[in-house]
Amino acid sequence: MVETPQGTGGVREANAAAILGAIRAHGPLSRGAVARHTSLSMPTVSRQIATLIDLGLLSEAPSPQPTGEVGRPTVPVDLNEDVIAACGVHIGITTTTYGLSTLRGVLLDSVRIPTPKGAPEAVLERIAREVEGFLAMWPERRIIGVGLAIGGQVDAERGLLDHGSLGWRAVPARDIVESVTGLPVHLDGHVPAMATAELLFGEAVHARSALYFYAREMVGVAVAVDGVLHRGPGQSGSIAHLPVGGDVPCPCGRTGCLEVAVAERAVLERAVRAGVLREPDIRALRAAARAGDAEADRILTDRARALGTAVALLRDIVNPELVVLGGQAFTDAPDHLSVVYGAYKENTVLPDADIVTTSRFGPDVQAMAACTGLLTRLYARPFSVLAAKP
Ligand SMILES: [Zn+2]
Repeated sequence: MVETPQGTGGVREANAAAILGAIRAHGPLSRGAVARHTSLSMPTVSRQIATLIDLGLLSEAPSPQPTGEVGRPTVPVDLNEDVIAACGVHIGITTTTYGLSTLRGVLLDSVRIPTPKGAPEAVLERIAREVEGFLAMWPERRIIGVGLAIGGQVDAERGLLDHGSLGWRAVPARDIVESVTGLPVHLDGHVPAMATAELLFGEAVHARSALYFYAREMVGVAVAVDGVLHRGPGQSGSIAHLPVGGDVPCPCGRTGCLEVAVAERAVLERAVRAGVLREPDIRALRAAARAGDAEADRILTDRARALGTAVALLRDIVNPELVVLGGQAFTDAPDHLSVVYGAYKENTVLPDADIVTTSRFGPDVQAMAACTGLLTRLYARPFSVLAAKP
């Protein structure tokens, strides 16, 4: 394989990626342990680790730790959490979230603003200016770029966004955000981005196959096998119209589709119509249910049952080793999570149903996911990403 002068691409970069991957999953590790995990030779490991330390990706642990190995104590190396950071921006229908993450997926800070209204170009420019101001507060960090995650359809290659609910068509999002921030921008769909966060830092790290199920304003799934996310051709797959029963009419003309049964806005509309709430506010709906309002509880129970049923259908189709539930429909709804799990267990037909877990990212999932799209690229091609210019 031919290497470029900068060392990007080729065997050296693949070796560096393997070393980073081993340390991310199992670190801190001695050089000998890295060699065993990666099947690389000791000279290669030592040389690559020296380069990765120079680049700010790795650092040596402060003091030698006993490793149980014969000979002098070795200094373990770990991811360097103090230098490099990835910015992530998630543009939602009502809320935009941006944040900054370390290499290990620790969110240093995140900010939520209402998604600005107006022409898509102007909206993106305003968001990019907010992000620029936010990043200026971290002068000591080397920020490798901006991960932009959004629902709708993403053309990562050309940097274009389509978003039906926002009315966006082929919006040149990458160019706009790059020109304001001066940083390389990477686009990703938000469900694949969240699934990637689980694969890098969450429950799915050690699973051979995993199904990620997301629900809040929209629903989506992503499937990963051997740590690699499946990305189909063109549009991402959709579970919006998965039939889960019930009599809620869907814009598609049928009734009982999943998304209209569980989307936060749809649930809140139902609560307002039923007189449970005056204003659509999910926290108020949960508080009403907790205070004993039977109608509020019924609305949230119906949502949880529909979600559990859908999780069972998908689990039975895909048959993964692990199912991760993410998004505020799960992580902000502890009172109704047992209903989700109950409906799932009632409806799944495969044995060994205890494979479902809830994402540890909670309400930070959107910001974390946007950062992770970029971190995934860094872990796969560290030299290329660090050398990238917008
Ligand atoms: Zn439908």
